[in-house]
Amino acid sequence: MPDLDSILNEIKNIGPCLPGSLDPYYSVCGKPGCRCVDKDNPRKHGPYFRLSFSFVKKNSTMFVRKQDVDAVKTMVANYKRLRALTLELGMAALDSVKRHGVAATLEQFRGSRSDSEGSQGSWKDKCRRRSRQIRAAEVKIRDLTKSRDKWRQECLKLRKIAKAAEKTHSDQGSRNDETRKKK
Ligand SMILES: [Zn+2]
Repeated sequence: MPDLDSILNEIKNIGPCLPGSLDPYYSVCGKPGCRCVDKDNPRKHGPYFRLSFSFVKKNSTMFVRKQDVDAVKTMVANYKRLRALTLELGMAALDSVKRHGVAATLEQFRGSRSDSEGSQGSWKDKCRRRSRQIRAAEVKIRDLTKSRDKWRQECLKLRKIAKAAEKTHSDQGSRNDETRKKK
């Protein structure tokens, strides 16, 4: 049985996935006189490709463009491999718990995670984490800008009120000059 480490590692590097199976099919357009309805030698159109999948208890198909067929083939194969690996991981984890206990198994999971920190594969992860941080920071800055603008408007409002008050005061007389100087 493959060990946890190698299974986890393969799962981590599985690549793009797509559920279902990719099958070629041929079709009849039905136009009178078309080769597809030829009486003696009918030749259907195609092959076209469709992805058939049963996903979350729903059967469905999806048309796949010719130029995407190779990529979709790889993605479908990756998904199949991932499902097999999930089973293997389950078995390996059970086996490890039986043999070495829960604590040791946890250690193995953790070990496999920290191993990858320094590896090449995790470089992408680091980039992803970094860009997430940057995005979060951008949001913060946006919020700050918003609240700063709000604050500025509040200040302007207060200033207007203060000016209006000042005006009334000076209209009342010069005795307020002393108070203003203190401020
Ligand atoms: Zn036809």
